[in-house]
Amino acid sequence: MTMRTGLAVLALVAATIIASPAHAALNVFACEPEWGALATELGGDNVNVFVATTARQDPHQIQARPALIARLRSADIAVCTGAELEIGWMPVLLRQSSNGKVQPGGPGYFEATQQVRLLEVPTRLDRAEGDIHPGGNPHVQTDPRYMRVIAAALAHRLAQIDPAHAASYSQRAKAFDDKLGQAIQRWQTEAAPLRGVNVVIYHKAWIYLFSWLGMHEVATIEPKPGVPPGGAYLAQLLDDIPKQQARMVIYAAYQDSRAPDFVAEKTHIPAVMLPFTVGGTERAKDLFGFFDDMIERLLKAVK
Ligand SMILES: [Zn+2]
Repeated sequence: MTMRTGLAVLALVAATIIASPAHAALNVFACEPEWGALATELGGDNVNVFVATTARQDPHQIQARPALIARLRSADIAVCTGAELEIGWMPVLLRQSSNGKVQPGGPGYFEATQQVRLLEVPTRLDRAEGDIHPGGNPHVQTDPRYMRVIAAALAHRLAQIDPAHAASYSQRAKAFDDKLGQAIQRWQTEAAPLRGVNVVIYHKAWIYLFSWLGMHEVATIEPKPGVPPGGAYLAQLLDDIPKQQARMVIYAAYQDSRAPDFVAEKTHIPAVMLPFTVGGTERAKDLFGFFDDMIERLLKAVK
């Protein structure tokens, strides 16, 4: 046997071992990176996590590509945000995947927003005006206290569909909750200078972060969630910002920086890009880095 074929055989043996563990790992289809990160925290080696979108993509606007359908077809559980964030693509994927295990209503379909109380639930719904948050604000991942509640519910669900590893999910959930609880104390102390700070935002994506840290959203670049601003609206906004004493303009990693940069420049305040989810910035490698980085970036802007 030559060196080359010897190595090839070895690689094949290794691949076979990796591909056939004693208990097959649960296939998790995570709609957004934060849920992929959470499933990894809770599942460890018991889960194979596929993340359908990246932090550089707008989760409201995803193409239902064949590659995603194929992934959902082999999934044991789909973990999504819900509250209609994925209304433009998940229903198509669910239908086309023909996978009975992950259909809404069953244990293999998990929505984070079903586990918590949503903010900004409209009292009067008018889709014709283009509001893409008809079920309330879906962006719950920006408050780690919400993540704690969602983590407990997800661990419970993973144990339900994979009872052989129930003890492991429960143990990991406890460890994650302890670590997150300690981190929340630290973040709250560090973020004290942010309390009462007024900010302008691009998209209504931060209400959970702001209600946690005591910040105030005084204006939005989008007149309604998902609706781009017109000239008259922008002119009014530029007029209002100094009166509102806003300290910064916040936008997400996936958004075009031109509108926030323009508004920031005209009103002489900084434009601050926040990761919005895991992977949005270099430092937001996991859920802890995600919150670390958001708080650091906000603090830098008020210094
Ligand atoms: Zn949104």
